[in-house]
Amino acid sequence: MTPAQRQYAELKNQYKDCILLFRMGDFYETFFEDAKILSSILDIVLTYKDKNSKTPTPMAGVPHHSVDKYLSKIIQIGYKVAIAEQVGQVVPGQLVKREVVNVLTPGTFLDGNEKNYNFIAGIVQNNSQEGNFHIAYGDFSLGEYFTKSFDSIDDVISFFIKINPSEIIIDIDLLEKQTLEEQINIYLDSLINISDVPYDQEGYLKTNLDIQTLGSYGKALQGGREKSFALLLSYLLDTQKQSIKNISKISHINDDNKVSLDENTIRNLEIFKSSYEGEKKYSLFSVINNTNTGMGNRKLNDIISNPTNDVKLLKKRLDQIEYFIQNPEIAQDIISKLKNLHDIPKLLSILLYKKNSPIIWEKLKNSFEVIFEGGENNILTQHILSIKNQDLSQIYKFSQELSSAIKEQPTENEYIKDGYDQQIDELRQIAYNSSKLILEYQQQIVQKTGIQGVKIKYISNQGYFIETTKKDSTKLEEYANPENQNFDFVRVQTLKSQERYTTTYLQQIQQKILTAKEKLTKLEKQIIDNLQNQLENLSKQINQFSDSIGFLDVFSSFGEFARVNNWIRPNIGTKGEMFIQQGRHPVIEKFLPTNENFVPNDLGMDDQSSIHIITGPNMGGKSTFLRQNAIIVLLAHCGIFVPAGKANIPTVDGIYARVGSGDIIAKNQSTFLTEMIEVANILNNATSKSFIILDELGRGTSTYDGVALAKSILQFLAENINSKTLFATHYHELINLENDYSNIKNFSVAVYETEKQVVFLKKISEGGANKSYGIDVAKIAGLPSWILKKAEENLHKLEKKQTQHKQAGLFELPSQKYDPNFEKIKQTLNQTNINETTPMQALKILDDLKNQLKD
Ligand code: ADP
Repeated sequence: MTPAQRQYAELKNQYKDCILLFRMGDFYETFFEDAKILSSILDIVLTYKDKNSKTPTPMAGVPHHSVDKYLSKIIQIGYKVAIAEQVGQVVPGQLVKREVVNVLTPGTFLDGNEKNYNFIAGIVQNNSQEGNFHIAYGDFSLGEYFTKSFDSIDDVISFFIKINPSEIIIDIDLLEKQTLEEQINIYLDSLINISDVPYDQEGYLKTNLDIQTLGSYGKALQGGREKSFALLLSYLLDTQKQSIKNISKISHINDDNKVSLDENTIRNLEIFKSSYEGEKKYSLFSVINNTNTGMGNRKLNDIISNPTNDVKLLKKRLDQIEYFIQNPEIAQDIISKLKNLHDIPKLLSILLYKKNSPIIWEKLKNSFEVIFEGGENNILTQHILSIKNQDLSQIYKFSQELSSAIKEQPTENEYIKDGYDQQIDELRQIAYNSSKLILEYQQQIVQKTGIQGVKIKYISNQGYFIETTKKDSTKLEEYANPENQNFDFVRVQTLKSQERYTTTYLQQIQQKILTAKEKLTKLEKQIIDNLQNQLENLSKQINQFSDSIGFLDVFSSFGEFARVNNWIRPNIGTKGEMFIQQGRHPVIEKFLPTNENFVPNDLGMDDQSSIHIITGPNMGGKSTFLRQNAIIVLLAHCGIFVPAGKANIPTVDGIYARVGSGDIIAKNQSTFLTEMIEVANILNNATSKSFIILDELGRGTSTYDGVALAKSILQFLAENINSKTLFATHYHELINLENDYSNIKNFSVAVYETEKQVVFLKKISEGGANKSYGIDVAKIAGLPSWILKKAEENLHKLEKKQTQHKQAGLFELPSQKYDPNFEKIKQTLNQTNINETTPMQALKILDDLKNQLKD
């Protein structure tokens, strides 16, 4: 191996799980497997070193100036990248020192254009009163972190699915490490890292967070959660290889006022993605999201994912939106300003970690200029502060400093505006007026010697020189005068057809220019370093301010949206009847063909009529009705307006939705099993204060099974839970339940029947439906009339049979009957004291039980 190869091998060995980018001059090179991966991801040429040897080395490289563009692509796919820079002096013929200066990973990559969250999470096990598993997670580019505790791995997985981290760090000592890894691989695309928790967590956190006591972060760093944060922080430090500068907050997520909204419900209500090929366009979020900044985009995402029943908070949000509806000019003015803002927290983090980012400095400057247009106190800042008051004076001062310091279109070598610093101005005069000086001097030589073609040129590794053709060189040398500094020509280089000279005067100019340039770079760097320090000190304040901007963006843009689309303010309280008048489904309404109108529908529920069974044909509008109500209840618990004529929503503790049966999500699970798992989860968690929608339950199995299950689930809900439930079904047999339970009520979708055809009115009305109209739907779909006719005949036969079954009591499911055998077994088990039972006795008991079962 050559020394460089040895150096490469050593570094690669330390960063085995990364693609190693090895800086060589103006390129980052990769070798072996890394090179193959890189060339296939980036579609760049794979070359071979020592091509003719037996084992040529594959290599692929990218130019250093455009590396950022490539990096984001590699990392998005889920790779980690270690950057090895040349850190020592470059001396020809000697091996330059190289070091890994940064490790880029999916969860730590600073991508200024990403509007959504990019979470990285760490998980540890530590059985404590507050849970067995603890996670810390956050968006590295925003510096916001959260901690949370869980009882079981399943709960952790559900939560991970909800926040979808791009990277997860697992404590090497976590007992169920393997199960966790398997589950993550099934449900998520997260990159997994196994890592150690620092030994003395408290000391470690105190040092690295620069605090006296962990109490500074309250419950966030208690109860085992400090261990998870220590794990995450140590990973961040390992990858950044510098201190973590922008931790703006660490908070403990408590579920006190939370309205449960699990991953299945989010998916079934198509909140962020439609089930139609995962299209984002047809999701609730994309319809209501009209925010204009990344800050607002993320804030709305937070609000929708975290519904709450903190009525005071909800009313405050509703007030804010109402204000903008009543003052549309102000809303529009603010929106037009917000449109010109960049994603400030993202810019901040890039500037704190990557110094040389001229365009980012300019973006930050421009954003502050938009915010502070007309001074510290203007209409925009007033409204931002109305979200949360804070003292802006330091940020304002800093923004003024930026405005006077950073020039338009700054470059890596030139950041600072003319007029900001006298010394810089003077040095620039020298450095950049050099061309004028050089030109004047060139003219002087032309005049003196009469040689028209004489030129002063510059080559970076040679500096300035005077050049003439071979022919003219004798003439030039005739004028050489050692006494005169301007004309003491000394030959420095002879080329094929040119001669190159220098003079004392040229050397002097050159010296002056080079020193000036050097000093300039130093001075500019000092100023940028200083600005960066100020920024670091202000980072908490700026992040707080950006948080308020996010809220303002949501409220102003949503206010405009609600005004234009006739959404109304829901009345939210802790008690009372839940009613939604003239409710609409926001997504269906938006994408309905222009010649069709959305038919609004009402819902009215109280404790006496908490369970509504909605029967009616497929395509009747049942699903839509269920979802629209769940969405309206959700929106009300987010503190935003709803698509309805009037709405009164008493707070709920959870929203649960199980819709449709055509969607298969997890691997190796049948659709029906998936459906039952989701239903089980709902039935185990819902309370009388929950809102549930169940659509076409039991469809995934045979009709008898399906009806039987659907019926018993309804019975369970009616007898034991009494949650507010909308249950849509095409099993019209279920309408009989209304007679057995006072809290069940029948509804159906209205159908307008003429002799020739059936029209679905999409109107929900009281009373059950007694027909399925399946064949009518098939007719609308254009099935050949032969089939329709045959189907009519078949239906007729089946219905006849069914009446016979009915008489035989097939659809009458027995409520749980007394089973003497079961009672006996129960008795035996209750009487057995395991602590006093020998293994032999135990076997005997088991045998008895089996025999009892046979009886
Ligand atoms: P079901 O669940 O009864 O099979 P859906 O709710 O899926 O019916 O509705 C069938 C179609 O009818 C949907 O694609 C939707 O576009 C349309 N639709 C549903 N409800 C309404 C409504 N209230 N107003 C207008 N169109 C509706």
